[in-house]
Amino acid sequence: MDRIGTDIQYAARLLRDGKLVAIPTETVYGLAANALDPGAVLRVFEVKERPSFDPLIVHVGSKEQALGLISDPPEEALDLMNEFWPGPLTLVLAKRDLVPDLVTSGLPTIAVRMPAHPMALSLLRSLPFPLAAPSANPFGYISPTSAQHVIDGLGDKVAYVLDGGSCRIGVESTVLGYKDGAWVLLRQGGVAQESIEEHVQIGAVQASSTSRPEAHGMLSSHYAPRTPLVLGDPEALLPNYAGARVAVLSFQERYSGGMVDLVLSPSGELTEAARNLFALLRQADASGAEVIIAERVPQVGLGRAINDRLARAATERDV
Ligand code: AMP
Ligand code: MG
Repeated sequence: MDRIGTDIQYAARLLRDGKLVAIPTETVYGLAANALDPGAVLRVFEVKERPSFDPLIVHVGSKEQALGLISDPPEEALDLMNEFWPGPLTLVLAKRDLVPDLVTSGLPTIAVRMPAHPMALSLLRSLPFPLAAPSANPFGYISPTSAQHVIDGLGDKVAYVLDGGSCRIGVESTVLGYKDGAWVLLRQGGVAQESIEEHVQIGAVQASSTSRPEAHGMLSSHYAPRTPLVLGDPEALLPNYAGARVAVLSFQERYSGGMVDLVLSPSGELTEAARNLFALLRQADASGAEVIIAERVPQVGLGRAINDRLARAATERDV
């Protein structure tokens, strides 16, 4: 059996046997394990070299399955599920006892979402358990948005990669928690903050906080290429790197002063920019450049998630 393929039944069999399978979602590829099997979940942490204080997102195939994992959800949580699922919104809610502590890093809450990818949904609906699945990459590196990215990062540490093509959204899910009767935005992601605010009031945005890594998306250095990345205005920054091999990653405009110039969205669309973000960051990283200069995108809608990932990828900002 090839390591990359489209055999959902084979993937299901591996997962039932406690093995790890990389799965496509609309956000990024996930490294999936039976969420109710602590042994399988432990291997996810080992394979990713992910610290055990960083809890995993649990993926479900139905709202009913989610309700079996959470305890006493507020009415608005059900509204949000109806509105945004399947889709890139993760809800952090009080967990039931059957959820292993390892999945939630000992927290009394569980992060849960229903992915909007036909293969992931069909896999989930063929299994009697939910899937714990963080992004399918070594901890701290750029998230994978294709099956090949998964193999590039994890190689034979993953039994099988279910190939569902390139990820349609391209950035991780938005993470929304509920604390003391108020919604808290824990991570910017594939559902725009503005869209959520059309349905519920967000009491606080902690997505940019690096003070307490309650969630791995909140660690200051993450989603990072190996090449140093500087975030700011390419036109102003390029002269500082005269003579160096520079890759420029820009939003819409092309800056040709560097060795490689990559454009997130020639038409200036944030959805397209998000879809291209991680693949172009990988391309910049593999280009042989000594430094990557990345430009911020407009801070609205999906732009918030893109700027958040760029800021975490950066070694220096706004020179
Ligand atoms: P990922 O590797 O994309 O699956 O990242 C997992 C993300 O889920 C983290 O960045 C956290 O933001 C979030 N998360 C998971 N579980 C919890 C939890 N119990 N409380 C708060 N955030 C959580
Ligand atoms: Mg990740």
